[in-house]
Amino acid sequence: MPPPPVATPLACGSRHRAPSPLKLLAAAVAAVEARTRSVRRRRLPPSPPPPVAPLALSRRPSSSSSSSSSHHLFGGNSLFSQMERYWTGRGISSNKGLVEQLQNYGVIRSKKVAEVMEKLDRGLFVPEGAPAYVDSPMPIGHNATISAPHMHATCLELLEKNLQPGMRALDIGSGTGYLTACFAMMVGLQGRAVGVEHISELVADSVKNVQRSAAAPLLKEGALSLHVGDGRLGWPEHAPYDAIHVGAAAPEIPKALVDQLKPGGRMVIPVGNVFQDLKVVDKNSDGSISVHDETSVRYVPLTSRDAQLRGF
Ligand code: SAH
Repeated sequence: MPPPPVATPLACGSRHRAPSPLKLLAAAVAAVEARTRSVRRRRLPPSPPPPVAPLALSRRPSSSSSSSSSHHLFGGNSLFSQMERYWTGRGISSNKGLVEQLQNYGVIRSKKVAEVMEKLDRGLFVPEGAPAYVDSPMPIGHNATISAPHMHATCLELLEKNLQPGMRALDIGSGTGYLTACFAMMVGLQGRAVGVEHISELVADSVKNVQRSAAAPLLKEGALSLHVGDGRLGWPEHAPYDAIHVGAAAPEIPKALVDQLKPGGRMVIPVGNVFQDLKVVDKNSDGSISVHDETSVRYVPLTSRDAQLRGF
């Protein structure tokens, strides 16, 4: 598995591991060199400061005694601020740019996943004013988050074979509805994508989000549905499922979800409390299951509505 594109250790719905420091340093040095070359060539004054607040380290004010090289390291368009923008993709201002970045990092490898993520504009699913195309989870209210794009992409890649046209998919903790909509686009009108979320306000918002998106016809035709419910119980009405995704961390793999998985089906679920692993659960043709850990992650808990609204 390639290294993750961002380091967001305190956020939810993201990978927990930081990218390889060597890779980041090499990329940042290359970016600085490229900029220096282009400035020399064009003989232009230094470029303006970045449009975003850089890391605390790069916000360090340059004292009057600081040398030009330390200014170069910590200033507005410094090595560190460029590294930070490289990690998080904060320079990206379009959904297409975000998808291309995830392809460049090797997080998206499948053409189909790229196509679907490109068609479904993340900007329609994040709260108004939020920086939609930053590769980071974002609060959506009610102590929930929309997961980071690299996690959406990772889960779509892991489930792709189980999201073929005509198949059935269940999305537990559907939140904004973004991933349920991606599932619906992949399984199409002959398939079925079901989202279950226990905060009714989020379900109402997710319906509005989907209605504005490229997945609206699938909602209208009933191939996509979003329900209020306790996702720990699954959604038996449309079981068994070829693909199950859980968008919140369970203390252990819920039996009801394993029961609702088809033989040959696959579930992707974060499991754990402080330390969480993204587990891939495959149901074999004899009904037995095989489980492997994909990566360390940080998600909000799969819990009761009351516990979530109390702040866990
Ligand atoms: N995948 C979604 C949301 C991820 S956040 C997105 O990217 O938009 C996890 C979601 O799980 C939250 O919306 C939270 O409200 C929901 N959740 C937590 N426990 C739940 C439960 N028992 N049943 C249903 N939803 C749950």
